[in-house]
Amino acid sequence: VTATLIDGRAMAARLRTSLRCRVDVLARRGIVPHLAFVMLGDSGPARVYASRIEKLAAPLGIQVSRRELPGDVRFSMLEREVGALNADSAVDGILVQMPLPEHLVETHLSSIIEQRKDVDGITIQNAGRLYLGLPGHPPSTAAAILHILTEGNVDIAGRHAVVVGRSTIVGHPIAELLLNRDATVTITHRQTRDLEAATRLADILVVAAGVPGLITPRMISPGVVIIDAGITVSDSGVVGDVDVACWDLASLVTPVPGGVGPVTNAVLLRGVVESAEHRSE
Ligand code: ADP
Repeated sequence: VTATLIDGRAMAARLRTSLRCRVDVLARRGIVPHLAFVMLGDSGPARVYASRIEKLAAPLGIQVSRRELPGDVRFSMLEREVGALNADSAVDGILVQMPLPEHLVETHLSSIIEQRKDVDGITIQNAGRLYLGLPGHPPSTAAAILHILTEGNVDIAGRHAVVVGRSTIVGHPIAELLLNRDATVTITHRQTRDLEAATRLADILVVAAGVPGLITPRMISPGVVIIDAGITVSDSGVVGDVDVACWDLASLVTPVPGGVGPVTNAVLLRGVVESAEHRSE
């Protein structure tokens, strides 16, 4: 079998096109979807990310703004800034730059963003909704993986999905999303004794470990669907967790770069539009 490669950039472009229409409908109600970034200190990667999202959002008619706070900001001040954004009914999404500076605690942040505006799904409210199978904002990368599987017409119900990695932003939430869609889910992680035994049983293999080359051909079964959410910046550019030799065995795979990444950015914007659609006036 030679796998079908998912074109994440094309899929993202299609998703953004579908958002245009929704933004037009909102415009007739006088609503402009608005995403607010909260930047902490002078982080190069965070600026690059914010600029990328701005560039994607502008042609869709989604407004993006930035608040800049010092890197050594006290939690109370961050709380005040987020509180002001919560109170501003014209704001639909709030993204606080991650990772947080060391003196700030993620669990504190995860309770101060209003649920509707938590478009990256970091709050306890959205995590709870995910766990209960209620609508909400799941973390964008996990939502993007589900979008790819859906668009790729991959059957999920009753299939064995194996997730490698249990991070709160990718592994754990995608496992919940798959479970909600009736997959049989195995979550593996650093302490898993026999990773290979688990991955071999996968109909759908989602890899989010951040370990280049972790998944090799001997670890998979022919025909498996592989979603590679690993992102490691190496000398030769961005690489995923899956050895490209696996591509010959799989039925469907996402490349890195050009797979999950671009879809994640589009899914984030979808979350902002969705939130704007739920504004209560
Ligand atoms: P990401 O942000 O891509 O999800 P994190 O660094 O937050 O990555 O989490 C990495 C996850 O991958 C952890 O849950 C960890 O247990 C898992 N992991 C890392 N190395 C391995 C490995 N060799 N085998 C299985 N799981 C691994």
